Amino acid sequence: MAGYIAPIQRLIEEYKRLPGVGTKTAVRYAFATLNFKEEEAERFADAVIGAKRDVFKCPVCCGLSSNEGPCGICLDEDRDIGLVCVVESPKDIMVMERVRTYRGVYHVLGGVLSPIDNVTPDDLNVKELLSRASEGGIREVVIATNPTPSGDATASYLARILEPYGIVVSRLAYGIPVGGDIEYADEITLLRAMEGRKYFNQ
Ligand code: ZN
Repeated sequence: MAGYIAPIQRLIEEYKRLPGVGTKTAVRYAFATLNFKEEEAERFADAVIGAKRDVFKCPVCCGLSSNEGPCGICLDEDRDIGLVCVVESPKDIMVMERVRTYRGVYHVLGGVLSPIDNVTPDDLNVKELLSRASEGGIREVVIATNPTPSGDATASYLARILEPYGIVVSRLAYGIPVGGDIEYADEITLLRAMEGRKYFNQ
């Protein structure tokens, strides 16, 4: 069977790199892209390049920043820097921000521990978290990793290594199904999860 001509095949292969996109969807996306006017194609490509070029890692929380300095949340003086919510990925910050009563700050781990996938603490932003802890001023760390076995194991690990710093460590009490993703939790569920959080060391 003859394949698509090279430029289309190349586009299909690129779309297939996206999460949840299989061959069929990638083919649909590639042909939709082909229908773009020239300026639409340029705007599309520019958005991809711009997102890589203009998004930086916040040196404080390891989340995303629009410049090389701290992100807007870390710079916000109205936020309580004594309360740190640990999340897996930068997009989870936007999820937790649905809980409008939460006025603490965040720390992005960049994943969870997973022996199967060879993810160790060195692959995550763990030393950055410990460095924040050692600077003092943190009262409580709320761990908001997803309620999966890896998320739970990561939470227990963090509770253990944060203990010497005298920081209270808690874990979100999820009302969402075990194995689920906090991304799909609504504001009320997240608020209850935050209010009912379980403490490791009390
Ligand atoms: Zn930040």
